Amino acid sequence: MGLFCAAVGIFMTIMAFRKGQREYVAVYICPECETAYPAAEVPDKRCPRCTVPLEPLTGFYDRHPDLKEG
Ligand SMILES: [Zn+2]
Repeated sequence: MGLFCAAVGIFMTIMAFRKGQREYVAVYICPECETAYPAAEVPDKRCPRCTVPLEPLTGFYDRHPDLKEG
């Protein structure tokens, strides 16, 4: 029975991991207007409004701590 519980635990962990992966789907943010776009909406990875290159949202505010406020 303990083995079964372990198997379920592993399964749940994998599912949680996969769910996390799916939610991680690449999102880009414009350093000018700070608008976030799903990668699918910006195939050229440029802001449709500012035409500046977008940056990955992950770690964006770590790279730009000055934009963190507000
Ligand atoms: Zn922009």
